[in-house]
Amino acid sequence: MEEKFVCPHCNQELTPWEPHPETCWGDTLWVCENDDCSYFTRGRERIAKEEKVNFAYRYCYNPQSKKAVPIVTWCGGELSFLKGRV
Ligand SMILES: [Zn+2]
Repeated sequence: MEEKFVCPHCNQELTPWEPHPETCWGDTLWVCENDDCSYFTRGRERIAKEEKVNFAYRYCYNPQSKKAVPIVTWCGGELSFLKGRV
């Protein structure tokens, strides 16, 4: 399957991401890794203000269910797609 998906918020190509085996998500998800993505920056600002914690949502698409699912990324966490964090 050579499918390509694009983030509707910033038009960047989504990156395939395999969930950790211990999560219950069996499907490969497609994540927007763009740190300038409006979806990411807006959510991050809001959360930082309201919750005083350093995490944010990234846009993520599940082609199996054809649904967009926001992924929580802990800034400082272990997820490999957190490179480029501030
Ligand atoms: Zn995006």
